[in-house]
Amino acid sequence: MSTLVQDRLRAGAFGNAVALSCRECGATQELGPFYACTECFGPLEISYDYPSITREQIEAGPANIWRYQPLLPVPADIAESPNTEPGFTRLIRAANLGRELGIDRLWVKDDSGNPTHSFKDRVVAVALSAARELGSKVFACPSTGNLANAVAAAGARAGIPTVVFIPHDLEIPKVVASAIYTNRLVAVRGNYDDVNRLASEIAGEEDGWAFVNVNVRPYYGEGSKTLGYEVAEQLGWHIPDQTVIPVASGSQLTKVDKAYQELIRLGLVEEKPYRIFGAQATGCSPVAQAFRDGHDVVRPVRPDTIAKSLAIGNPADGPYVLDVVRRTGGVVADVDDEQVRQGIELLARTEGVFAETAGGVTIGVLKQLAESGALDTSAETVVFNTGDGLKTLDAVADRVGPAATIDASYEAFTAAGII
Ligand SMILES: *Cc1c(COP(=O)(O)O)cnc(C)c1O
Ligand SMILES: [Zn+2]
Repeated sequence: MSTLVQDRLRAGAFGNAVALSCRECGATQELGPFYACTECFGPLEISYDYPSITREQIEAGPANIWRYQPLLPVPADIAESPNTEPGFTRLIRAANLGRELGIDRLWVKDDSGNPTHSFKDRVVAVALSAARELGSKVFACPSTGNLANAVAAAGARAGIPTVVFIPHDLEIPKVVASAIYTNRLVAVRGNYDDVNRLASEIAGEEDGWAFVNVNVRPYYGEGSKTLGYEVAEQLGWHIPDQTVIPVASGSQLTKVDKAYQELIRLGLVEEKPYRIFGAQATGCSPVAQAFRDGHDVVRPVRPDTIAKSLAIGNPADGPYVLDVVRRTGGVVADVDDEQVRQGIELLARTEGVFAETAGGVTIGVLKQLAESGALDTSAETVVFNTGDGLKTLDAVADRVGPAATIDASYEAFTAAGII
């Protein structure tokens, strides 16, 4: 099997990536559609023969994640293959929100600007490249929403048969925003865990299927590094003192740390201490709980929160999140659903950014950490908004609305006392 894969691979199919290495025991194996260590079943991670690159070379690249191609497991000609071209989303100086929270230098990295309006387009674009280079026949995922949207759209752009599995009782906006791209959306009678189990079974039975978050997960994860690269580049090539990141499986947070480490190693930024903070919703906060208890293992929970895009009760990268946060001197904290709603409203009212519930979680945790003193309010701070509020309208739909409903006359308007 593996020699067949190697024969099929064209030279440079994975750019400067050289191997898959185990995050537990360090054993390495060849690049291919593998995700578990053959020695200990630990999760695999991409390792590189790091190139020497300059800021100028990166800055001359396209205004999307492919400007970082030398640091991703994708070929040098990646920009020529149809994909969704995500990334290089705006980093906004959040002076109003900063004033409100007493944080002097605050920025919001707004990933709602991606092609399907969440950060998932980054990971899916890299997974699509891997699927293509591995000669996969089918592109697929189990999902509850944002991932389904991103996979369906990328598969359509690439012209690869794409099958997306979702629980049968998903909210209509998420179903429509996936089904619009593919006629192979499959609703499964069961919850997300059932859908996930089915995906793993299919991946085992069928040859040539690339499930983005299952058998090509090591490649998928690398896409999250681009968030870290972009933040550093957009700040004028330096790492922020503090970064606040939402945690579902924990992949994103650990890969942003990997990105910062790589930038230091490559001499693209100056080495400096930085702190990484994790944000969860109280109704699904197994990593925050483990952090508070001082545990290394993360005890699975049954999710119950409006922040559905973060509702992973058994996070694969949970222990690695604890490692990163503890090593950098950060905190993993959580806020309840009411604070999530308030976080969405606060960001919208102060900065004109409408976040999905995951963004409400992150803003809520930022506020909590600033108030408790766990976060240094005089240090440069970046907070992530990873999705678009239009996808989770229900979270705030009954809290906001017209200030008045009036007849179409000047008198009626002035009588309403709007301004
Ligand atoms: C998936 C997702 C995340 C977190 O992803 P992990 O890498 O699994 O921790 C954050 N925000 C949004 C909007 C997501 O869809
Ligand atoms: Zn191993």
